[in-house]
Amino acid sequence: MNRTLRSGGVRRCAARRRAPAGRTACIAIAALGVALSLARAPIAGAGGPAAVRALAGAPGWDRQLLSEVSGRRAYQHVIELAQKIGPHAAGTPADRTSGEYVAAQLARDGYAVERQAFPFPYFAVRAQTLAVPSAPSLALHARAMMYSGSTPAGGITAGVVDAGRGRPEDLQRAGARGKLALIERGGLTFRQKADNAAAAGALAAIIYNNQPGALGGTLGRPSPFPVVSLPGSEGQRLLELVRAGTVTAHLEVQTVNEQRTSWNIIGTKPGARDPHRVLVVGAHRDTVEEAPGANDNTSGVAVALELAEVLKHVPLGQTVRFVFFGAEEEGLFGSAYYVAHPGPDPISGMVNLDMEGVGSRLEVATSRGSDTLVRIAARLAAELGIAVSVTRERGSDHENFERVGVPVVFLFRPDDPYYDTPRDTVDRVDPALLEASARLALAVVLEVAGPAR
Ligand SMILES: [Zn+2]
Repeated sequence: MNRTLRSGGVRRCAARRRAPAGRTACIAIAALGVALSLARAPIAGAGGPAAVRALAGAPGWDRQLLSEVSGRRAYQHVIELAQKIGPHAAGTPADRTSGEYVAAQLARDGYAVERQAFPFPYFAVRAQTLAVPSAPSLALHARAMMYSGSTPAGGITAGVVDAGRGRPEDLQRAGARGKLALIERGGLTFRQKADNAAAAGALAAIIYNNQPGALGGTLGRPSPFPVVSLPGSEGQRLLELVRAGTVTAHLEVQTVNEQRTSWNIIGTKPGARDPHRVLVVGAHRDTVEEAPGANDNTSGVAVALELAEVLKHVPLGQTVRFVFFGAEEEGLFGSAYYVAHPGPDPISGMVNLDMEGVGSRLEVATSRGSDTLVRIAARLAAELGIAVSVTRERGSDHENFERVGVPVVFLFRPDDPYYDTPRDTVDRVDPALLEASARLALAVVLEVAGPAR
């Protein structure tokens, strides 16, 4: 996560990729005044039995429940989903298999299980190559932007022009008609640059990072126009060639853009005292195409399933719904569908679990809305001896809940350089971190949902 974030890339969870091209998309902004470091106890063992005992007897709910949380048990879900099933991008056969695994766990624990189907724009890349035949030593690692269109089969060979930042006047000055428009990141969204290039008659857009390092991004919705990204250093070298003389390149992009179905898997525990208020515990269950997704986000799924396990026989005041969202990585589609179809009862809050198993730093965050739940989580973390920082974070399903006015807390560990890559494997996930996240999430759930009477 840091690798792409700190290098200015926008590949993290989906909404980060939608961020305007001109800005570093998703730096964790210290918000709410300061980034509070509430407790400095090491994570390993934090919130252990001693801390739980210290809390026992506090009014409200039974804090002994926190000692029932097991990181090792949660880790078994990571093995099942990320290792045995493997990558499970939304809309693929493995998406259904992994969803059924989650549904079976919930059913086994006695929850009423619902499969909430929704449509989303599926996207996959079949080919992405860019080469300059006259400069064979120039290695270009072009990546199709999410929702890019395709070139004709076999690709296109055309001149490359310096199209500045992709504003209409840049493209006009460059003479982009019939050419490949080389565009610098910044100023406009990737979508705007692509649309401007298409309107100017360019054959495709090549958008390079305005900083060193790789660039990933999304056009937000399907486009027929081919758009690839280049790392900053490669874009600069190509730009130098273009400025030195005529450059002809060969570009092939083959993508799949089609409507497919995914599912939010929902397990509901009706409240005993206040059944018409719903606390949502959410975790997205999809991965990107090539990543096993052990941390992003099998770890969050595992923590949510562990909460469901611990709470299966515990009566609670409010209704609690465990919602495992589909198609987060393409653009938060599952959670968007859920907030548009939440059922008859109001949502009192949302706890979002995304990336809980790698990196000791733990954040409790909102993206822009009410900090009610964040304050509760920060207080409970201090009481449990779990070190957290209070921040703002975008880029995961909590954003959709905040958009409709629901207080959220996002539990997130920001220090994973390998999320969304083939190296997001189970050996890197630490059961002790799952356990600490699960204890804190459970404390928030018990505090908010309250005792049955
Ligand atoms: Zn994620």
